[in-house]
Amino acid sequence: MYQVQVRAYTIKHDKREEVSRFISDYRRLLQIAIDQIWSHIEWRKKPNRGPYKGLGKRRDATRIIPFIPQDGGFKHHELRSSLLEGWPYSKHYVDSVIKQAYSIMNSWRCNYVKGKRRAEKPVVKRRFVQIKETLYTHHDGVIRISIKPHQEYVNFDISRAWFLNRAEGSMGELILKEDSLTITFRKKLRLEAPRNRIAWDSNEASLDAFHPELGWVRVDLKEAYHIHRTYELKRKRLQKKASKKPSLKAKLEKYSARERSRTKNLMHKKTSTLTPYPIQHYFERLNKQGMFTHNRSHNRKLAKSDWTLFQRFLAYKTGRTGGSLNPYNSTRRCSKCGGVNEALNGATTLECRFCGLKIDRQLNAAVNLYLQMEGLSPSPKLFQELMKDWSGFTQTGEKACENLDELERGSRLMNPQENMITFSHVF
Ligand SMILES: [Zn+2]
Repeated sequence: MYQVQVRAYTIKHDKREEVSRFISDYRRLLQIAIDQIWSHIEWRKKPNRGPYKGLGKRRDATRIIPFIPQDGGFKHHELRSSLLEGWPYSKHYVDSVIKQAYSIMNSWRCNYVKGKRRAEKPVVKRRFVQIKETLYTHHDGVIRISIKPHQEYVNFDISRAWFLNRAEGSMGELILKEDSLTITFRKKLRLEAPRNRIAWDSNEASLDAFHPELGWVRVDLKEAYHIHRTYELKRKRLQKKASKKPSLKAKLEKYSARERSRTKNLMHKKTSTLTPYPIQHYFERLNKQGMFTHNRSHNRKLAKSDWTLFQRFLAYKTGRTGGSLNPYNSTRRCSKCGGVNEALNGATTLECRFCGLKIDRQLNAAVNLYLQMEGLSPSPKLFQELMKDWSGFTQTGEKACENLDELERGSRLMNPQENMITFSHVF
């Protein structure tokens, strides 16, 4: 498994006069490509299967679905040759235009089918050109972009750019705007595979982990909570009388001892399901923001001691300790785009205000800890790769839209699995 790390750096330039016309022509061609694809769309009647906006779940309803022409005859010949007519710049730009136009159209279609967009042709507003590696050279600190083959070039001196010492990997696509040039660097990172380690996120009543091959795994600790609650009530009933009767004091101590031993037993049982597999367990350090500060501090103290017990047993039984992970922002940070959202204040779902991802808060935290353990930084592409095996379905049985925009998968992505039965298939 590889991850491609892409870093982008932008520099300002003062070549507006030289590039402005080219950028306008490029945008115009992109719009023409969209116009042509649009006019070739086939609208077909389809029975309504899903809960689409406006139609509800009515079985008898039909809707009209657009089909974008995908055949090579149209895409690579008809469309391409009509775009090339009168195009004075490099032919490669026409190929970029076609690729970009298709990606815009596919994303429009996907959203249209979901009821998020209307049957209106997309309009390109942004003015920029994507420049592939084949269309520029980089020598002695100068990027030379070919605009018209063997005739017209634009040079950008980047020899003194601050990022040159920092950037790793090979120079990739450029994005040219009227006043700036963005340079991307692509670095292929090999992820050591397979990695037998798992990162646990501690929650009040469960431990949650995410693993790309296991999905969302959970150890339920509700039983421990139940044990503590039972003894808390028992003690309360006695406490009032205990101050007067010394014999009851002894009874109170007996309760506490019994509570401890029942908790220990439970933790033995829970950790035993994990020990047969050669896995290293990583835990977040238990100082989660706000977790142990506010109310219900007694229960939280208990939960904390349960987790500590759990970790100690695991370490003892497996003879291995993984590491500890930093829980800072693991709940608030979006595991897809990396944006840090406002505190969730008890909400069970994180709705990312940067990329719109909807995800269960515990799953999100677990994915974040997984990324931290593997030394990866969140990115939409990586997120997609990690969720690859877990994204083909939703709880409603509706097929997820496989296009660019996977927001809909959200928290319905998968359900946590109890027990580690599936571990044996993986490790
Ligand atoms: Zn996000």
